[in-house]
Amino acid sequence: MGSTTGRKFSDIQSDVYDVVIVGGGVSGLTLAAALKASPYTSALKVALIEGMSLAPATKWDPSPDQLSNRVSSITPASQAFLQKIGVWDYVYPERVRQYDDMRVWDGVSGARIQFDSFQLDAAGAPMAYMTENLNLQQALLESLAEAPGDNQVKIFDSTKVEQITNSTDQLDDVDLSSWPAVKLSNGSTLRARLLIGADGVNSPVRSYAGIESRGWDYGQHGLVATLTMEWDDRQDIAWQRFLPTGPIALLPMPGGKASLVWSTTPKLAAHLKSLDPKAFCTLVNAAFRLELADLNYLYTRSDPEEIEAEFEWRDGMLPMEDEGAKFPVRVVEVQENTRASFPLRMRHCDSYVAPRVALVGDAAHTTHPLAGQGLNLGQGDVASLMSVIERAVVRGADIGDEVVLQEYWAERYPANHVMLGVVDKLQKLYCTDSKPVVALRSAGLEVVASMDWIKKLIMKQATGI
Ligand SMILES: Cc1cc2nc3c(=O)[nH]c(=O)nc-3n(C[C@H](O)[C@H](O)[C@H](O)COP(=O)(O)OP(=O)(O)OC[C@H]3O[C@@H](n4cnc5c(N)ncnc54)[C@H](O)[C@@H]3O)c2cc1C
Repeated sequence: MGSTTGRKFSDIQSDVYDVVIVGGGVSGLTLAAALKASPYTSALKVALIEGMSLAPATKWDPSPDQLSNRVSSITPASQAFLQKIGVWDYVYPERVRQYDDMRVWDGVSGARIQFDSFQLDAAGAPMAYMTENLNLQQALLESLAEAPGDNQVKIFDSTKVEQITNSTDQLDDVDLSSWPAVKLSNGSTLRARLLIGADGVNSPVRSYAGIESRGWDYGQHGLVATLTMEWDDRQDIAWQRFLPTGPIALLPMPGGKASLVWSTTPKLAAHLKSLDPKAFCTLVNAAFRLELADLNYLYTRSDPEEIEAEFEWRDGMLPMEDEGAKFPVRVVEVQENTRASFPLRMRHCDSYVAPRVALVGDAAHTTHPLAGQGLNLGQGDVASLMSVIERAVVRGADIGDEVVLQEYWAERYPANHVMLGVVDKLQKLYCTDSKPVVALRSAGLEVVASMDWIKKLIMKQATGI
């Protein structure tokens, strides 16, 4: 390290930055907004590079009755952080819906568990806030636009990082050798005292830093869609049924809508996407209500009328008692062009830091969506990294020094490791209909369901409060 400690570069050269963030997803934008919101770091010179256009977020003018299909459940801990950095004030509140009750059950045995946010210590806190990722992105960009002129983050969107090398430059008395030099598709090269990889699962920053990412593919696709329910169930419940092909979840959204995340085989996901919309809705209803044998039969059909008739006949045989407590309100419509699917995988990096590099969000870890944690883990990373950067600035230390950055990794790796492990074990435990496993997991679930203190512990972990 040369004589760069604690110096700002705003007056030195236009392409030299204190922090260069690669990735304008929620993690990258949150870090940029947090850096600008903190009195300790707001003067740092920051650039953010995003390969895609950010115009869909900056010019977002959503119709009240249409919802984007990329939706996330935001834990109270993530919401509190967004509030702290002044971003939550820019979120459209009418496009947020909270839930305080979650009902989860085993699709094979029917064993059930109910989580209720009234069991949490934080009185009045919901279990989670549901909103579109675009709502968060527009709020983050709006808050960034509010930063005073000379403190603005320089945003390069529709601009790809093409190559990252070690800089060999010397700038006056500043030795930039060993600083990452980030070559962009617009021809410019940015030098970074600290380079942030917020660039998702295939992170180019991680490749540059030579950090290994380990894990496996689940052989499942997460099918998402925006649905309209038969009526607006004001109970604010999230529903999840574990089928042997993967869990199906229905999360409440504003205006009597719901967001579907159906993890299933790639073949079934492709079939569900190609089905007539009415037949698709019927299969969603069936997946929450019918026995597996009935479902497996319905999956082989594609004639909408036949699917409807078969479903109604089989559903009519179900006992009616506790109907409202056991199943969600029926789905009646799927919003056009909202059915999409994504391959699901688990990845975890050996380290989140290297000299002058830190990884946050999906660049550092990727998890199955069954617990709605991916984006929230990224928010936790940003909050932790921010504290480390703030402390370094206050001490006059070099924010790119690996020893400084190790503190961030030491705090986040174990917490993320536990969450990724739990989610992975749940995925594996429930992706079978083997009788002994089903018996064991159902007995375990019933024990947990009967013990409020264990449920409270699980909820504390999941909500972060
Ligand atoms: C079906 C599904 C449902 C989910 N539901 C939830 C949920 O309910 N709750 C939750 O917490 N999480 C959920 N997640 C996970 C969540 O969506 C992700 O964890 C989160 O979006 C990751 O954000 P990120 O900013 O870290 O990465 P990304 O969103 O992947 O952003 C990375 C960005 O980097 C950019 N980039 C990459 N390479 C380059 C390059 N070379 N040059 C320039 N830019 C580049 C990309 O264009 C991208 O915009 C879900 C995921 C799936 C698949």
